[in-house]
Amino acid sequence: MYQYRRRLTREVAFGNLALGGYQPIRVESMTNTHTMDTAATVLQCRRLYEAGCEIIRLTVPTERDAENLRNIRDQLRRDRITTPLVADIHFSARAALKAVEFVENVRINPGNYATSQKFSNNEYSEEEYLKEIEHVRIEFAPLVEKARQFGVSMRIGTNHGSLSDRVVSRYGNSAEGMVEAALEFARMSEEMGYYDTLFSMKSSNVRVMIQAYRLLAEKADAELRYPYPLHLGVTEAGDGDEGRVKSAMGIGALLEDGFGDTIRVSLTEDPVNEVPVGFALVKKYNDFHLVKGDKGSLPLKHVIESRNRKSHHKALSSREEPPFNPFSYQRRKSSQIALADLVVGGDNLPRVESEVHALLSGHEAVYEELLQRLAPEKPQDSIRSEFVALRVNTFEELDALDLLLGKLGEAARFVVVSTADVELFARLLGRVSKVRFDIVEGERLGEEFLQLLEGERRAVVELCFIHACAGSSVPAEVLAHFAKKSRSRGAERLFFSVISREPVFVYRRLVQLFNSNSLDYPLVVRFKNEASDKLETLIDASVQAGTLFCDGIGDMLAFDTSLPLDDELQLAFNILQGARVRMSKTEFISCPGCGRTYFELEKAAAAIKQRTVHLKGLKIGIMGCIVNGPGEMADADFGYVGAGKNRISLYVGRECVEENILEEDAVERLINLIKERGKWVDPPCCLP
Ligand code: SF4
Repeated sequence: MYQYRRRLTREVAFGNLALGGYQPIRVESMTNTHTMDTAATVLQCRRLYEAGCEIIRLTVPTERDAENLRNIRDQLRRDRITTPLVADIHFSARAALKAVEFVENVRINPGNYATSQKFSNNEYSEEEYLKEIEHVRIEFAPLVEKARQFGVSMRIGTNHGSLSDRVVSRYGNSAEGMVEAALEFARMSEEMGYYDTLFSMKSSNVRVMIQAYRLLAEKADAELRYPYPLHLGVTEAGDGDEGRVKSAMGIGALLEDGFGDTIRVSLTEDPVNEVPVGFALVKKYNDFHLVKGDKGSLPLKHVIESRNRKSHHKALSSREEPPFNPFSYQRRKSSQIALADLVVGGDNLPRVESEVHALLSGHEAVYEELLQRLAPEKPQDSIRSEFVALRVNTFEELDALDLLLGKLGEAARFVVVSTADVELFARLLGRVSKVRFDIVEGERLGEEFLQLLEGERRAVVELCFIHACAGSSVPAEVLAHFAKKSRSRGAERLFFSVISREPVFVYRRLVQLFNSNSLDYPLVVRFKNEASDKLETLIDASVQAGTLFCDGIGDMLAFDTSLPLDDELQLAFNILQGARVRMSKTEFISCPGCGRTYFELEKAAAAIKQRTVHLKGLKIGIMGCIVNGPGEMADADFGYVGAGKNRISLYVGRECVEENILEEDAVERLINLIKERGKWVDPPCCLP
C-alpha cells in the first residue's frame, strides 16, 4: 500500500516466453479478424509482431476456427514470427480441445465454459449448484489433461459481463462473484495436478475491475497452492483518449499495487494501436525490474531488497492496514468548504484546478490565459477549469496581482495564488479566495506561521508539501502535524496536498495519518508533470490521480502539465469520469471487437459517439457480440450489440427490446429508442 513491491508469482510456461516470477511484465493484444480468414489474420499478427507485441490472442468461436489455427501458426512460424499465441474460448469445449494443439495458451471464460449462460434470474438450490459444478468438472477435465500433455498454459479469464447464472444467483454480479467463478476452475485444475494457470478479472467498470483483482489475489493466495500470474485489462474501455485513460487507470492502479505479469490495453481501434500504450504503461515497472551494471542484470528481488535497504524511512509492516477498503468503494469522508460559488469536499463533485505558467510581470499574457482557462462564458458544469492557480514570488508582483484581479472582476473569485514565502503568504490571505502555501522539504515553519492559519480570514488555505524524495513518508508526517495543530486551535477552511513523483503512496500515507487522528480536511490531488510527450503524461496522470480517485481519495484534482489547455482539461475530466466520481459526458462502453464481430464496429462506435456525446451521465454499451453484451448491459442504460452478419440487437438495460435489425438502420433506431425512453436532450448548436 505504501511502496512499490511486485507480487512474486509462479513462473508459467508460455511458448518461447515465460510469464510471472521475475519475468518482465508482458504486453499483449488480440486480433480482430475472423480466424477462418488465414491471410487477414496472419497479416494482422505480423503487424502486431512488428509493433513489438509479445503475446497475440485470437478468437476461436468454433472447432473449425480452432483447426485453422494450425494454418495460421504454421505460416507465422515459416515467417519466423515466434510470438506466443493464445486461443480465446467462449462456450465451446470442443474448440478449446482442438485449439490446445496449436497455441501456447488457452483462455477460457469460466462464466460460459461448459455452462449454459441464459442471463436468467433463476435461483439455484445447493443440489443444483453442485450438480452444475460437477458437470463443468467433467467437461473441463479433458482440457486440463490435454493442456498438460501439450505443455500449454491456461488463463481463467473472468469477465464481469458474462458470469454464469449459477455464480450470479449466489454472489450477484459482483467482484466476489467474479473471483468465485475463477476459483471454481482453479480448484479443479489443482485437484488434477495442473498448475500452469493465469487469472484475469476484467470489467468495463474500472473500480469493479480493480477491486476484483485485489480480492482474487487475497483469496487465491490464501487458498491455492501457488500465487498464479495475473493478466490485467479493462474490458470495453472504448477508444481515443477515454479508452487509454480508463485502461491506464485500471491496469496502472494494479501495477502500483504490485500486481500484473501481462497486460492488454483494449481499444475499439486497430489492435496495433494498443501496443505502444501497453509498453508505456509497463515501462516504469519493468525498468524497476532489471538493473544493468558491471555484473550484468540483477533480478527484481535483489533490486527491491537493495532499494529497501537504502530507504531512509522506517521499514513498513506487511500487515499495516490500508487507509481505505481495497475491495469496495467508499469516498473518504471530508468536511465541506465553501470556495467562491462552489463547495469543495463532503459529497460534492471533485473540482478541477489548473495552473497558469505566465509570469505576473507579463500582465496581458496572464490576463488572457486566466480568461481562457476560466472561460466565464461557459456554463458551470461544462469542461472548464473551475479554479486557476498562478504564482507570486516577489512583493513587486503583488501590485501586478491587484491590477489583474481588478480587471478580472467577478471571475477573480476563482483565482488561486501560490507562494512559498511566509510574508507574501500573510499578505495574500486578504486578497484572493484561495492561497496555496508550498512547504519545501526541510523548511522550518514555527508558531508565527501557525497563527496565520487561525481565526477569520478571507482566503481558504491549502498547505502543499513539495516532495522531492520519492518513497519517503515525511510529507504525510509534516502535513498531519500542521493539520493536528490547526484542528486543536479550531482552524477550519484548510486543504492539504502534496506534489510528488509518487502521489499514490504519499496520499495513502497522508490519509492513514489523517484517519488515525480523525482529521477530515479536504485533499487536493495534485499531478505535476513536465514531460512533453502526450501519451506519457496521459498515462502517468491516469495511473497516479486515477488510482487515488478510484479508491475514494480526493476532493479536487489539480493539474500542472505541459499539455495544451483543452487536452489537459479533457484529461482531468476523463480521469474523474473513468473513476465514476464526476460524469461530464456520455459513458461509452465499447469492446475492441474480434473474430466474433460481424458488423463495422469502429464505424458504428464513432457514429453513435458523434450523435450522443452530449447526453451527460448516460451509459451506452457497444458490443461486437453477445458474449459480454447482456452482462455489461446491466451497467449500461442502452446497448447496441452485434447479433449476426450485419445485424444488431438493441437493449435497454439487460432487456433486449429490438432484435436482429439491419446494421444500416441501427444507429437511427438507437437514437429513437433513447428519445422514446425520455433520455434524449437536443445537443448544443455546435454539435451535429
Ligand atoms: S464482446 Fe467484443 S471483444 Fe468480446 S468476444 Fe464479443 S466481439 Fe469479441
